[in-house]
Amino acid sequence: MHELAVTESIASICLKHAEQNGAHRIVRVNIKLGEMAGIVDHYVSFYWDMVTKDTVAEGAQLNFIKIPIRAFCPHCNKEFAVKEFDLICPECCKGDGELVSGREFLVESIEIE
Ligand SMILES: [Zn+2]
Repeated sequence: MHELAVTESIASICLKHAEQNGAHRIVRVNIKLGEMAGIVDHYVSFYWDMVTKDTVAEGAQLNFIKIPIRAFCPHCNKEFAVKEFDLICPECCKGDGELVSGREFLVESIEIE
């Protein structure tokens, strides 16, 4: 159920920017969502309609930009895609990979009218 709390946070961020810019309506919200963020976009969309009712964000479209999980190997100085919790570098088979992306959950931009 933590999607409700994060949806409320996103909504307040959007409403703050909309107010600062004198927007009449928020048309679209672009959200970066990492595959490891543990957030289900479907639930966020569901709660969005609820938390934005009677605000300038009501009816705004949520656009989720999915961020794949990637790690960096310090031995090979290379980035690689992480699949199914496998942090082992495909080049050298060492497991010292550091996550570089995949945990994002950020409002990237807002389109207003
Ligand atoms: Zn490596």
